[in-house]
Amino acid sequence: MQQELQQLWEDAEQELAQVAEPKALEIFRIKYLGKKGAVAGLFARMGGLSAEERPAFGQAVNDLRARLEEALALRKQAVAEQSESALPTGYDPSLPGYKPWFGRRHVLSSVLQEIVEIFRGMGFSVAEGPEVELDYFNFQALNFPDDHPSRDLQDTFYIEKDVLLRTHTSPVQIRYMEKHPPPVRIVVPGRVYRNEAIDASHAAEFHQVEGLYVDEGVTMGDLTVTLRHFAKEFFGSGTELRFRPHFFPFTEPSAEADMTCFACAGSGCRICGNTGWIEIMGAGMVHPNVFKSAGYDPEKVTGFAFGMGIERIAMLRHGIKDIRLFLENDLRFLSQF
Ligand SMILES: [Zn+2]
Repeated sequence: MQQELQQLWEDAEQELAQVAEPKALEIFRIKYLGKKGAVAGLFARMGGLSAEERPAFGQAVNDLRARLEEALALRKQAVAEQSESALPTGYDPSLPGYKPWFGRRHVLSSVLQEIVEIFRGMGFSVAEGPEVELDYFNFQALNFPDDHPSRDLQDTFYIEKDVLLRTHTSPVQIRYMEKHPPPVRIVVPGRVYRNEAIDASHAAEFHQVEGLYVDEGVTMGDLTVTLRHFAKEFFGSGTELRFRPHFFPFTEPSAEADMTCFACAGSGCRICGNTGWIEIMGAGMVHPNVFKSAGYDPEKVTGFAFGMGIERIAMLRHGIKDIRLFLENDLRFLSQF
């Protein structure tokens, strides 16, 4: 019996000397001192001993347990000291840490969202359409004649003969009206493509918000009220709009809208080219041919449409001088907004 305990102690001592990390220490503790460990096994055998043998055996097992616990504690300390001295030299826990980066909305997304929210407040809902579009929806249904210059390869990216990257968000007007009877009140945000030479104010891909309002008896007055409200909400309550006659194939009459310069309030400065006015969007009354393409009766309904470039609006709002900055992913630029 004594010999067995001695053997166990020697095995344990040898095993413990090999232990070099906290996990192995715990494995050792469970094996010898755990609830189902070697020491517990010895205690369990006491029931089978005679009354004379029991006290001596119990004392011997108790001693063994105490020695094992002591040896384990010593080894634990040694392992802890070893792992501390194993830290890489040059590690300085007093140095300041790195500040985590926080993500944020892209400036174009937040400007777009703000624009959409203003029109939502006036009862418009959001509609979207594909960026790869048919010639029919991008041009033909919108009353562009076959020889219109914007249909030229110089201006439009064609994928094949009748398939192209949409040059404006207006094709969604047709797609939406084909599926929904009047009245219609939608804004259409989205990415558009033009075959442009890229410079500080021209990009080959950019974003627009389109608006369409169709019902019985919609007038040019509704158009100007709606856009004036938008301009005041977005650029400030002192903002005024003026409308200049213009031409678009899909509206008649058509206009371009200028707002009073936010920098000089109309007195003239560099931003507005000393005119006091800044062009912000195109608009007009929906052309009867567009209604016919979409299956609406132009004798029954009228409507207005408008469209603006998000990049242009964002550049005006934030004083950004170069349109290319929006796509360059430069954090020095993006983190300002
Ligand atoms: Zn100005």
